[in-house]
Amino acid sequence: MGDIQEFSDLKFQGIKINYLYICKRKLWLFSKNITFENRSDKVLLGKVLHEYSYPKEKTKEVLIDNLIMIDILSDGSIREVKYSSKMKEADIMQVMYYLYYLKQKGIHKQGIINYPKEKRKEVLELTPDYEEKIQQALREIEEITAKSIPPPAQKQKICKSCAYFEFCWG
Ligand code: SF4
Repeated sequence: MGDIQEFSDLKFQGIKINYLYICKRKLWLFSKNITFENRSDKVLLGKVLHEYSYPKEKTKEVLIDNLIMIDILSDGSIREVKYSSKMKEADIMQVMYYLYYLKQKGIHKQGIINYPKEKRKEVLELTPDYEEKIQQALREIEEITAKSIPPPAQKQKICKSCAYFEFCWG
């Protein structure tokens, strides 16, 4: 993979990359539009944090190709705001995906993940290793979401705060 034509066949929302690293079943359910995310307190908290943590900062929310919504900061970097760093790998991969996506369009950016509650941030640069990982992740997402049944539920810590908890374990 690598050229833009192939890439355009594999356009996915960054959230799917995030879910791939959190739970493959969650990814499958989300991809079928089975979504209860609005009821999740964590998601709501994330939105509130986003709005109130950086009130004075000049940002532009940009929707790219109707697929991904990202914040562009005044210095040109892109940003995600996360409630906690518990899902760090998933969050990093989500931002790396945005950087990868933009790179296919000839736009080179730095990524930032803000964890306002922990008062810290991660600064990310897309490396060849991460590009390779993103390409693999996109292929894996395609395989999982093409299946007619979801991967089996597997109990893990995050199930408690997952919007699909009732669906999987109720
Ligand atoms: S409740 Fe657990 S198994 Fe079910 S989708 Fe969420 S994380 Fe995955």
